[in-house]
Amino acid sequence: MLKLLLASRNAGKLREFSALLPEFDFVLWPSEAPELPETGAFFQDNALQKAEGALAWWREQGREPVDGALADDSGLCVDALWGGPGVLSARFAADLPDYPAKNRRLLAMLPEGADRAARFVCVLALVPAKGEPHTFSGAVEGSLAFEHRGEGGFGYDPIFIPDGYDQTFGELPAALKHTLSHRARASAALRAHLLRA
Ligand code: IMP
Repeated sequence: MLKLLLASRNAGKLREFSALLPEFDFVLWPSEAPELPETGAFFQDNALQKAEGALAWWREQGREPVDGALADDSGLCVDALWGGPGVLSARFAADLPDYPAKNRRLLAMLPEGADRAARFVCVLALVPAKGEPHTFSGAVEGSLAFEHRGEGGFGYDPIFIPDGYDQTFGELPAALKHTLSHRARASAALRAHLLRA
């Protein structure tokens, strides 16, 4: 079983990875470890930056050997907001205390009658202990709801309706999100790569 350092403290992502990639033995990013910078302009830059930074720190600390580090950079891209908040999704509306409030602000930014098309995007970076780094991406197309609906999932899930459904990711069962989400698709690409290797 591959032992991978998971370079994230986002509880929503951690929950999803253990469901999406049960064949990996994930080592969680410890609470005493530094915050991993994400200063890139693209999801791919940030995913690589986080996975490389995590593995370097882990080695410097002389921690138990791992087979590599995995990082996820993801976000919600809204057409009417020129792709925003996109790569800045985790930092959008940083003055607001929680996602219900952030989601309300995001919805309020759309002018009446605006195109509501949006997509979730995920880029995974795998930096193996030996060998070349690789990235894997996935996206799910959908549209923005008119209000925050449902308490499932995390982040922007309660305002995102995947194409082909009437409910938001906050209302749909987690098991369904895991069949079609951006993270599920990127995880499937990662699995296919590892099976080929
Ligand atoms: P980052 O990848 O750490 O920059 O953070 C990604 C941010 O995008 C998260 O904090 C969420 O706000 C949002 N996000 C990414 N994936 C999802 C998802 O599956 N559901 C809801 N929000 C998401």
